[in-house]
Amino acid sequence: MENNSNCIFCKIVAGQIPSNKIYEDDDILAFHDISPLRDIHALIIPKKHIASLADTENSDAEVLGKMMAKIKDIGKLVGADAGFRCIINTKEVGGQEVPHLHIHLISTKDGSCVGKMIG
Ligand code: 5GP
Ligand code: ZN
Repeated sequence: MENNSNCIFCKIVAGQIPSNKIYEDDDILAFHDISPLRDIHALIIPKKHIASLADTENSDAEVLGKMMAKIKDIGKLVGADAGFRCIINTKEVGGQEVPHLHIHLISTKDGSCVGKMIG
């Protein structure tokens, strides 16, 4: 698996930084955000280092599709059955702080709306 030794999320994939894992398979990992914006806040990442949604290759289509297809299951695992919002901040202009592609999955435990804007 290609990874970047300076990347926080690659270190999480490698187990060098601990994380509160929700779901893992050969290609993707989901874990709880360290500073949640709502009471449910998960991050879904490819295990392979992809810097952002603006840095994908055509050959990444499979892992990108897998991330999208698994969101519903990850949502169920964190109690977001009623619905959730997904956000992909992309590069500095898009508000991205960690340069390893990630999907934020945000929801609430009481079923109230997460709000129209996050971040
Ligand atoms: P971004 O602003 O890049 O879209 O989102 C990065 C997210 O990663 C933030 O919500 C931040 O709280 C989370 N984060 C940063 N460092 C860590 C970490 O070491 N562990 C976990 N679980 N989340 C992190
Ligand atoms: Zn990385």
